[in-house]
Amino acid sequence: MKHESFADLGVSEAVRSELAQGGITAPFAVQSMVIPDVLEGYDVLAQSPTGSGKTLAFGVPIVELLKDADPRPSALILAPTRELASQIVDEMRPIAHARALSIAAVYGGAGIVKQARLASKAHILVATPGRLLDLIERRDVSLERIRLLVLDEADRMLDMGFRPVVERIVKMTSPKRQTLLFSATLEGEVGRIAKAFTTDPRRHEHAHPAEQKGDIEHRFVSVSHEGKVDRLVSELSESGRGRTLVFVRTKRGADRLVKRLSANRVQAVAMHGDKSQGQRERALANFEAGVVNTLVATDVAARGIDVAGITHVINYDIPATQDDYVHRIGRTARAGASGVGVTLVTKEQSRELAGMVAPLGLHRELQLGGLPSDVAGGRARPAGGGGSSSQGSMRAQRGRASGGAGRHAGNSRGATAGASTGGRSRRSGSRQRGR
Ligand code: ADP
Ligand code: MG
Repeated sequence: MKHESFADLGVSEAVRSELAQGGITAPFAVQSMVIPDVLEGYDVLAQSPTGSGKTLAFGVPIVELLKDADPRPSALILAPTRELASQIVDEMRPIAHARALSIAAVYGGAGIVKQARLASKAHILVATPGRLLDLIERRDVSLERIRLLVLDEADRMLDMGFRPVVERIVKMTSPKRQTLLFSATLEGEVGRIAKAFTTDPRRHEHAHPAEQKGDIEHRFVSVSHEGKVDRLVSELSESGRGRTLVFVRTKRGADRLVKRLSANRVQAVAMHGDKSQGQRERALANFEAGVVNTLVATDVAARGIDVAGITHVINYDIPATQDDYVHRIGRTARAGASGVGVTLVTKEQSRELAGMVAPLGLHRELQLGGLPSDVAGGRARPAGGGGSSSQGSMRAQRGRASGGAGRHAGNSRGATAGASTGGRSRRSGSRQRGR
């Protein structure tokens, strides 16, 4: 399979040189798949692992399709959290400026007046749904002339209860718009939404992240409930640890754990939805700057945060679903680096956890942790005698499970792009759509 360059994909010199300045010289797989389709005017549904480069997959073609004289706003990107919205803006701003376009973020928890002022001048809006609706109701923003709409992390927006707001927002945009939807899954409810919001979309799916990613070491550690904090402290004192993300289930649990770590002389910060915007930004800035290298977060708060150099992800509380496991562990080993994912598991949780991760092919790792590894029909049998080297801290080197199929070797175009209609500008002129 040929490795295309950004130039091959139709990306302009101005944008390419801006990307190159940021060290981005060759497209990731999802970018090779999505960029040409967006430039040709297609709606796109993409399912792709965390850290695979989705932001530029929509960011690059959006800035290519817009020009300075276009209405403000012409493009709208919806994202579930304020952190994610501001990260998208940070990543897109240089390439937007390279094309003389302005971009603004709109999210709750920060002053609305200044945001309204910036939003009214921006070609591209990156918004969380709730705050955007506020601005629309205040008549600071109108979506009538939006021709490009992106739903990023669509599944998470649904999880967070944004469906009614998102539907209202989408209805305010022109039916002639081009719609791009990115999601960790395209099954179930998000699949139905995807269908309702798009017309003849091109669909792209990556292999399962657990298979795609090479160098993640998954470790499962059996612990007693009372022993969890001590075990975490000892994991955190391992040498070779860089930035670490510790996952807990609840906001209160996050705060409590930070205090208990502090009592053990481990400095950590908590990140969750009850923190003010200022607190969240400070926590993230301290983490990014390396002032504090342990961040304790809930699933929702951590979603979409892209901090480079996370070497360890530790599930202090086990995830609720397999998707959550994949997303949590996906916070490490971003952009080709390697990483470690550690999950603390109590006896009572061992079956639930095994049922969740055995289908990801982690049988051996489960065994090394002394957990049931043989799961059939959703039921897990305890692992036989061997393998349970008490704390299961043996390194389970997973290696490149997919036989060296790295990020770039994904199913570029072929698998889903299928029938290339050849017509370069399907969307010239007005489009009909039944809604
Ligand atoms: P996703 O949204 O799929 O989780 P992101 O868009 O946040 O992933 O990208 C993950 C990281 O990879 C970011 O730090 C981003 O700057 C980097 N990245 C994206 N595309 C490329 C590329 N083509 N080459 C190198 N790094 C890239
Ligand atoms: Mg993303």
